[in-house]
Amino acid sequence: MSVLQIGAGGVGGVVAHKLAMNAKTFGEITLASRTLDKCQEIAKSVHTKTGVTIQTRSVNADCVEDLVKLIEEVQPKVVINVALPYQDLSIMQACLQTKTHYLDTANYEHPDTAKFEYKEQWAFHKAYQEAGIFALLGSGFDPGVTNVFCAYAQKHYFDEIHSIDILDCNAGDHGYPFATNFNPEINLREVSSKGRYWKNGEWIETEPMEIMQVWDYPEIGKKDSYLLYHEELESLVKHIKGLKQIRFFMTFSQNYLNHMRCLENVGMLRIDEVQHNGNKIIPIQFLKTLLPDPASLAGRTIGKTNIGCYIQGIKEGKEKTIYIYNVCDHQECYQEVNAQAISYTTGVPAMIGAKLIVGGKWGGNGVFNMEELDPDAFMQELNAQGLPWKVLEL
Ligand code: NDP
Repeated sequence: MSVLQIGAGGVGGVVAHKLAMNAKTFGEITLASRTLDKCQEIAKSVHTKTGVTIQTRSVNADCVEDLVKLIEEVQPKVVINVALPYQDLSIMQACLQTKTHYLDTANYEHPDTAKFEYKEQWAFHKAYQEAGIFALLGSGFDPGVTNVFCAYAQKHYFDEIHSIDILDCNAGDHGYPFATNFNPEINLREVSSKGRYWKNGEWIETEPMEIMQVWDYPEIGKKDSYLLYHEELESLVKHIKGLKQIRFFMTFSQNYLNHMRCLENVGMLRIDEVQHNGNKIIPIQFLKTLLPDPASLAGRTIGKTNIGCYIQGIKEGKEKTIYIYNVCDHQECYQEVNAQAISYTTGVPAMIGAKLIVGGKWGGNGVFNMEELDPDAFMQELNAQGLPWKVLEL
């Protein structure tokens, strides 16, 4: 038995530690990424924290041929992709060629266009079916656990779900004037794009940060929350019966928004090439180089996150509302696996998805989103692996 993880950033660090903590299930663990040093640094921490030795490799995950060679050498049961969304298609292609199961935490994005959609990954469905392999898309927190929360609510709490608000609150404080809590390029592309939500069968577009609502988060309190488009909306509208509306909200401080507007106004969020002193640069990539590495926020971030789903619908003829959520403490994550809570809440579900695949509890032929699988085993693992959840019946 063996498993191959690709990507050694903030999320990758958590996945490697959690794989090692479940080494009996996974067998030999190989961590590969573009920069070997980063893999080795994680391997050292994993060994210190768990006593487990993991293998490390360098790989260019944009190159299908290199990936195929690595997969053939490692022979993993599943490839866990926690590199960037830009690598989703090449890694899926390599898994197809080697008939290996696949898992990721974010939908494919082309570097030149900030489009967030599953189209190109869903297009692999037939080929994966024919090859008899399983792809699990979006096994992070949001997407990921939020999809599983919706499936669990559908299975145990409702006959029909009418509306879902996915709420993502990070009340952590890292002490820097401005930093992002996961890859800055991917994060800023997402939050500076137009908002979108789904109502009565139609997508409604909004200007970036146009809609603000104050939500009251258990264990945190009231926070300004802004409507964004988020990729799990696209699959949930297909799979939740009776749905009439679905939206996604994320908290931002005024300080974050002021910095973001300022960076946007001066062109630092541009994703196209510009000439600079005779060289071509992409402003948002240059900005990423200047901003703190999200992995480095771990030791200095205090406070909690609260991510969950506020769901309204009907049970046995009566209207019903629940909030199903997890609260995660940044410093507890740091103590356990040297990470901040955003990396932790993404990396733990990635490991759980892989554990269910390896253990034969989740599977199938083709490409699947999280809510298409039976949620119960995943919900049990969340409690066991450090992300306990609660249901408030409101
Ligand atoms: P980081 O930027 O910290 O890490 C990305 C890693 O991928 C780095 O180790 C990087 O290598 C590696 N990488 C990038 N390009 C290549 C390549 N061509 N070949 C091999 N390796 C490569 O990102 P995060 O850890 O913050 O995020 C990882 C993923 O998790 C992203 O896809 C992100 O969108 C997703 N995510 C999902 C969330 C969810 O809840 N679903 C929440 C947060 C993140 P190098 O070190 O050399 O740059």
